[in-house]
Amino acid sequence: MKETIYTIPVNDAYNSECECPLCQLKKRSEENEIEYYLGPSLMEPDTRIITNKTGFCPDHMAKLNKKVTNRLGLALVVHTHLLDYDKDISEDIAKAAPAKAGLLKGRSSDYKGALRSIADRIDSRTASCPICDKMNKTIERYNEVIMHMFSHDNEFRAKFMATKSHCLPHTAALLRTAANKLSQNDASDFVTALANGNKEYFAELEHDVEWFTQKFDYRNKDKDWGNSKNAIQRSMRFLSSDTGEFNEG
Ligand SMILES: [Zn+2]
Ligand SMILES: [Zn+2]
Repeated sequence: MKETIYTIPVNDAYNSECECPLCQLKKRSEENEIEYYLGPSLMEPDTRIITNKTGFCPDHMAKLNKKVTNRLGLALVVHTHLLDYDKDISEDIAKAAPAKAGLLKGRSSDYKGALRSIADRIDSRTASCPICDKMNKTIERYNEVIMHMFSHDNEFRAKFMATKSHCLPHTAALLRTAANKLSQNDASDFVTALANGNKEYFAELEHDVEWFTQKFDYRNKDKDWGNSKNAIQRSMRFLSSDTGEFNEG
């Protein structure tokens, strides 16, 4: 496979010292998307048609708010999104209010369904997010590229076999893609490497977190922290694939 926009970042991520190369790719993709939505695209009609409808998920609202430099641009995006949301939903909420019992016969029994259906519409709009959508697609593509490189590029295969670990959500994604894309023989090597890395990393985290808890014992107060100081943050990243909150560890 020629070096493409996908193989270069995959090689970079697998060359770096990290706990999960896919988390690194995810973080990079997220930074690109946040930069995109805070950049000139903010004012482009095509982008606005999307953001008017979807808004952003709570996590990305917070990240956009933290990174924004063009406050007017973000305000305009939020304003047109509010208008769209209001138009879509406010009247329907008002219409869904049932008549008081006994006042209007024949209109009382189906109001619960109407309330639930509007609640579902709000939930699905609140959760929708073009940044999440793009990141998920990008990571899916990276997963496929990893499979292709593993079967066709011996240098990458060796790199993958030596990878320290993958976080659990990305382990799941890799297993699923391996089931779809790899031959049985390749899958055998691939899954064995994945399992070995994770087994060692589980043991390392378990040890470090345990020592973290034991440091609370006054008898261990003056003993060395070893690698335990950031063991909670590393474990949370391993469990959740989070690219933001636990990064300081
Ligand atoms: Zn990961
Ligand atoms: Zn999002």
